[in-house]
Amino acid sequence: MAKLEVVIFPDDRLRRKCRKIEKIDDSLKTLAEEMFEVMYQDDGVGLAAPQVGLDIRMVVIDIPKEDGSQGENKLVLINPEFTSVEGKVLSTEGCLSVPDYTAEIERYEKVTVKALDLEGKEQVYEADGLFAICLQHELEHLDGKLFIDHLSNIKRGILYKRYLKLKKEAQRAARNRENA
Ligand SMILES: [Zn+2]
Repeated sequence: MAKLEVVIFPDDRLRRKCRKIEKIDDSLKTLAEEMFEVMYQDDGVGLAAPQVGLDIRMVVIDIPKEDGSQGENKLVLINPEFTSVEGKVLSTEGCLSVPDYTAEIERYEKVTVKALDLEGKEQVYEADGLFAICLQHELEHLDGKLFIDHLSNIKRGILYKRYLKLKKEAQRAARNRENA
């Protein structure tokens, strides 16, 4: 398998509604490990399959410990769904697919999510704090939604133009390197 790369906004692959995973096998376990690798490289706490170009309902999450270290809270959620949500809270978020940008948006304060793990067992997660925010952020990715969709149309329009320009510049630079 080719090395995974983070898909950067704007990109249609971030806008697809992902399909349910029917079969949990070794290739899915390998994929989950590769997604963790990509996530750690970019200092993320969560990563959804569409962010590496795949339209399947899987996310990986690793909430850092108090000292900032990661590796002990690794979670893989397959076909996750909210079973309850509660309260409201303001959250400052960023996304590996929208680099170098953060915004404050409103989220639920507490959520409960059920999902299958890599053994195919159903798990229930009751979350608050960063874990609750992360679940909401990552699960939205599976429905083709980004955190910037919570912003006004005007703000999102400005971001779209800015990131499209960056993308074109990067593509041009890559072409020039090839031709050099
Ligand atoms: Zn994200």
